[in-house]
Amino acid sequence: MNRNVQTFLGCDTVYEDAELVLFGVPFDGTASFRPGSRFAPTAIREDSVGLETYSPYCDRDLSECAVCDAGDLELPFGFAEKVLKLTQERTAEILAAGKRPVMLGGEHLVTLGAIRAVLKQYPDLHILHLDAHTDLRNDYLGETLSHATVMRRVCELAGDWRIHQFGIRSGEKAEFEYAHAHTDMHRFTLDGWANALKALWGKPVYLTLDLDILDPSVLPGTGTPEPGGVTFTELLNAVLQLHSVKLVGCDIVELAPHYDPSGASTAAACKLVREILLQMKGTE
Ligand code: MN
Ligand code: MN
Repeated sequence: MNRNVQTFLGCDTVYEDAELVLFGVPFDGTASFRPGSRFAPTAIREDSVGLETYSPYCDRDLSECAVCDAGDLELPFGFAEKVLKLTQERTAEILAAGKRPVMLGGEHLVTLGAIRAVLKQYPDLHILHLDAHTDLRNDYLGETLSHATVMRRVCELAGDWRIHQFGIRSGEKAEFEYAHAHTDMHRFTLDGWANALKALWGKPVYLTLDLDILDPSVLPGTGTPEPGGVTFTELLNAVLQLHSVKLVGCDIVELAPHYDPSGASTAAACKLVREILLQMKGTE
């Protein structure tokens, strides 16, 4: 008999043999509106059984990919800096073993922990940031560590013009002004995506996918829904181009599954995780 261990669909390679390592960071301690993204990694694993391992979009199968699902980090809730430290340590461990991290949030702040580690290994890193929100506040209610400030902190670490933002349709005026001087921001849509990927050819790239880039009619299961988003097909088509860049790591964040009892939001997240894993296979 086998042990009853739930992994994301088809991601049952042992760690030593894995090329990609999936892990969850179930933290939503700074959610500014509706918490609940801490339940995303479990929901994504559970509902992934409804997916096929085969993708007719790219003609690849997850069973051909060496992915280890390493489970979730055990986190001290309410201690953002400690959560970031644990996330950074896990990411660094995966990179040091010559593997690539694929992180399931959790809220968007956890990206900072992962990028701190990735930047140490790849100082010339570029970041693809898909989101409805700028996430460029200097602080939120006095807190500098928040899912509303995460890309500001990343920008301070990585440097100007390293972050390429798409789908952005919400933020303070000051955030858009900050973007104008420091980031490569594409508002409202995914227009310019193919050109951005072309310009990043050969460079190390980290993808951070905040699922609220999708229109809330597609993905209502998120903490801060923002009308006017992209369609699932538009996002999928963007994901399907990722094989052309050197993806050294990625994350999928901000699914809050309980706000969508239909399960459609989680199904969308599962499918995107599958397609991203398939795009990462063989890109290094
Ligand atoms: Mn975000
Ligand atoms: Mn967002």
